[in-house]
Amino acid sequence: MVQLFNMSHDYETGFDAALAALRSGGLVAVPTETVYGLGANATDDNAVEKIFQIKGRPGFNPLIAHVSGLQMAERYGVFDALSRSLAAAFWPGPLTLVVELKPHTNIASAVCAGLPTIALRQPRGTMAELASHLGAPIAAPSANTSGRLSPTRANHVLDDLGDGVDVVLDGGSCMIGVESTIIKVHEGNATLLREGGIAAEDIEAFLGIPLLQGTDKPEVEAPGMLLAHYAPKLPIRLNAKSTKPDEALLAFGTTTSAGPKVRNLSVTGNIDEAARNLFAMLKELDATGATSIAVHPIPETGLGAAINDRLKRAAQSSENGS
Ligand code: AMP
Ligand code: MG
Repeated sequence: MVQLFNMSHDYETGFDAALAALRSGGLVAVPTETVYGLGANATDDNAVEKIFQIKGRPGFNPLIAHVSGLQMAERYGVFDALSRSLAAAFWPGPLTLVVELKPHTNIASAVCAGLPTIALRQPRGTMAELASHLGAPIAAPSANTSGRLSPTRANHVLDDLGDGVDVVLDGGSCMIGVESTIIKVHEGNATLLREGGIAAEDIEAFLGIPLLQGTDKPEVEAPGMLLAHYAPKLPIRLNAKSTKPDEALLAFGTTTSAGPKVRNLSVTGNIDEAARNLFAMLKELDATGATSIAVHPIPETGLGAAINDRLKRAAQSSENGS
């Protein structure tokens, strides 16, 4: 039976239950500023294996290890001046750093999926505090079936994964709403592997130089990027200027469309608000019985890049029927 705690009423009881579950090899669903994570003790092989099983996640797709801070991160990853300065500037926060994995650590081997690198992040709030009390990183992908929409509310987790989780902490809606930005630091270079909750332009402004883009070896450098992702059940039609009969609409900015099959990411055109609403509204439209979901054009600026990345993958996944 899943134990559910409301963090605004039962913070301490919930925290203690989650910590006990992590210590005994269980799975916990915990809100972060990005989305709800499905966490396990990253040094416990059996517990990490359960994450892959319950999500149906392929074993070649490595997990982000969530740490209490840079000190814990440096027990597992090799940090240089560049990765340290990024961590100092953006942690705690929605930035994941992929760095060289130290030899002979106690990290469960499935966390890095056999790669010579490890992905590390200090999130804001409860997840980092749990890692601190556990004395070990928490391996945590999003708390959803692999390939489906990410959860930004506790009920999304319960609906999707239900009894497979030991403890769910309900912290309300996630503040940012899209997953972390992933940067790989290697030989003094910073490469953007995934757009996410910190806009690439903010990281570039901090560094004073452009980020290198992507990778020509995604199967080695960022395996999860190749997978179908964020798929609602309905087909998605991007950059739609109008809706067809029986089509649902995910709007952005002012619109005259209204009704039960319309949601607006942000009436005022606020891109941060749009990111917060993205996954929840896609789920709601998915349940309307429409034939497909039309999506207004979304600007690429700020978190718009991450939103458009998720929407493109969602559209592709529905085209592929996955
Ligand atoms: P997700 O948990 O779905 O947000 O995905 C995390 C993504 O981070 C993975 O799909 C990889 O692309 C990337 N990642 C995680 N761990 C590593 C690693 N050790 N080396 C390179 N990329 C990683
Ligand atoms: Mg995910």
